[in-house]
Amino acid sequence: VFSLLIYNQIMKPVHRLQEQMVKTTEENKKAEQIRSEFVANVTHELKTPLTSIAGFIETLQDGAAENPEIRNKFIDIIAIETSRLERLIEDVLVLSEIENKKASIDIVTIDTKESLINLISTIEPIANGKNITIETRLAEHCYIEGNVDRFIQMMMNLIENAIKYSKEDQEGKVLVSSYMDQNKVYVQISDNGIGISEEHFGRLFERFYRVDKSRTKKGGGTGLGLSIVKHIAFLFNAEVNVKSKLGEGTTFTVIFNRREE
Ligand code: ADP
Repeated sequence: VFSLLIYNQIMKPVHRLQEQMVKTTEENKKAEQIRSEFVANVTHELKTPLTSIAGFIETLQDGAAENPEIRNKFIDIIAIETSRLERLIEDVLVLSEIENKKASIDIVTIDTKESLINLISTIEPIANGKNITIETRLAEHCYIEGNVDRFIQMMMNLIENAIKYSKEDQEGKVLVSSYMDQNKVYVQISDNGIGISEEHFGRLFERFYRVDKSRTKKGGGTGLGLSIVKHIAFLFNAEVNVKSKLGEGTTFTVIFNRREE
């Protein structure tokens, strides 16, 4: 009886405390891992537009500014990249706010057609400059719920990939389409680019995973774009699917819960 008493009064709480401590350490480790993953993602995403801005400024300083047409085009691109940086920094701030639980993120009803049209208008000049056309087939009333900046970030990453992995020797075509059924909204990004063979599908969304390092060198990718897509999809409770054929093209489909308006 006495030893049972000791066990119940002393050892049981000690065990419980130990269990809790192990759990907390594991939680801390996980949180730390998520944080460092996040920093890595952000660094990558910040570096790309910054490199582009620095490059265009340098070209302008080297004499390109003397040609008004080129000058205006470059300034437009610098403006686009700057606003991308702004959006990103905003996202980082919002995310750190969530972590500190100081503010809640702005969740709204997103009109996917409107957001995609706005986004495409900023990317189109870049695509056209690379001999790629962006076509849209966007249904009306495809509403979802979530944060607009994140939605745009996710779609931007997918569309940028569709542009980046186009074929060099043929005119590139990117189709951005959306449709819905009773419960879901589907947003699809298709390209007629270099494609991905099936063996890579399982690992595509992993951080730093690149199908072929040599082919991404030119675009400066580090393999983080799709992991960000997946992370955002998780926040939206959405699903991301990929279909692709090597040498023919790729289609990414994001399936969101539909919100009736
Ligand atoms: P990266 O920064 O290398 O583009 P991502 O995470 O965005 O990284 O993509 C991972 C890999 O998936 C890329 O390296 C590329 O090989 C492949 N990939 C992504 N999107 C496409 C696409 N639309 N067409 C062909 N390959 C793609």
